Amino acid sequence: MELIYKSTRNANETATASMAILKGLANEGGLFVPDSIPAFDVSLDELAKMDYRQVAYNVMKLMLTDFTEEELMHCINSAYDDKFDTKEIAPLVKKAGAYYLELFHGSTIAFKDMALSILPYLLTTSAKKNNVENEIVILTATSGDTGKAALAGFADVPGTKIIVFYPKNGVSPIQEKQMVTQKGDNTFVVGITGNFDDAQTGVKNMFSDVELNNYLGTKGYQFSSANSINIGRLVPQMVYYVYAYTRLVANGDIKAGDKINVVVPTGNFGNILAAYYAKEMGLPIAKFICASNENKVLYDFFETGSYNRNRDFILTTSPSMDILISSNLERLIYKIAGNDAVKNKELMLALNSKGEYTITDDMKANLASFYGNYASEAETSATIKKVYESDNYIMDTHTAVAANVYDKYVAATGDTTPTVIASTASPYKFTRSVMNSIDSEYDKQSDFDLVDELNRLSGVKVPQAIEDIRTAPVRHNTVCDKEDMLKVVKEFLGV
Ligand SMILES: *Cc1c(COP(=O)(O)O)cnc(C)c1O
Repeated sequence: MELIYKSTRNANETATASMAILKGLANEGGLFVPDSIPAFDVSLDELAKMDYRQVAYNVMKLMLTDFTEEELMHCINSAYDDKFDTKEIAPLVKKAGAYYLELFHGSTIAFKDMALSILPYLLTTSAKKNNVENEIVILTATSGDTGKAALAGFADVPGTKIIVFYPKNGVSPIQEKQMVTQKGDNTFVVGITGNFDDAQTGVKNMFSDVELNNYLGTKGYQFSSANSINIGRLVPQMVYYVYAYTRLVANGDIKAGDKINVVVPTGNFGNILAAYYAKEMGLPIAKFICASNENKVLYDFFETGSYNRNRDFILTTSPSMDILISSNLERLIYKIAGNDAVKNKELMLALNSKGEYTITDDMKANLASFYGNYASEAETSATIKKVYESDNYIMDTHTAVAANVYDKYVAATGDTTPTVIASTASPYKFTRSVMNSIDSEYDKQSDFDLVDELNRLSGVKVPQAIEDIRTAPVRHNTVCDKEDMLKVVKEFLGV
């Protein structure tokens, strides 16, 4: 049966999976959502016997029904190969009373690789299926990690160009170095004088500009998105929750059917939404624990039912979560409104014009499986140090936000359900903040001395992604005002 995707803002706008992946965003700023989520057609016990690629196939085939088995297996096999530094792809590590699902073993050492190593294949396959002849221009806003992972995925992919906008002063030194050293003639990296929300808004505006899109069409170009607004990001992200659950079954930690909780360090709400979709597919998840940093707009939303982005934007040591407009929350809002595009659109327009909206009590009642909390900067640091000292395990700042919020959840509820914490980045990506958490004396050292010191303390091999940038030359140095994003896109495309 064909699964149809619908716009969150217009019930009449529908697309097949491949069309939704190609477009990225629906018209009028809507997001594509599956009309319904099919149930697993194999048992959890059977899934527990499969490897990552087989689990991926069994999840993704239900969501991408217009892909043939051959097409999907080609995408999966091309993505989840030795670009990952472990055969398991996403290892599950038991430490300090929880299961850390390490999602950072791909080529750019953040969880974005889980989806962005497959998205270029899904997209080029979708283009072929739909007889698209235009060159596809991937337009991406990044808070640090999506940018590099998308660049790595799309570099030199025929028929594509990729343009990445990042907040010039809002990413870690290693994140920036990773992006500005990117090779590939089809890649373009731009720092903007603004924050992540400015970058994301600028990109969304270009997507929704009908005149611009028509003009580009006459020049042989069309936009698509590598951000988690693209359903082609969310579907591959469902896979690792199923994989984690089935490893717990395979290891005898739980029995098939037992419930688990998941904790997700959250920014744009993509990663946690993928877990929610996995539950709809039949994965037994009891609680979705949504962890924020000091930009705690989501915590406030779960507490009060009001989403309000009118507040200061705080630069934290977990920059990939420095976000006040969580795009993917729209998909949840649509869902808890009873798949009501009219109601959803009304709330999203209020967010645009007033910067806030409040959901109804009926909608709020549908959020019972969510728990939100946040970690301050001091708490994040203290968590890194604590788990290092107790378990000799060094986690990155984003994962530490999640670990801290999980501690708060357990303290508040006493819930002992086995819990998976999404570990979203390698500590090597945020070396300075991580090492300073262990001892502030480290701040005197250079970035690469800290890398070597982290290696000494943790015994974890320095990832290739870090070795690669020690000496790599800078290839991108464009910086623009947030008002000039369209201008630089046109310059790069020569139109
Ligand atoms: C992107 C990112 C997040 C936030 O993920 P969302 O899907 O935007 O909620 C958390 N941690 C790291 C390291 C990231 O790169």
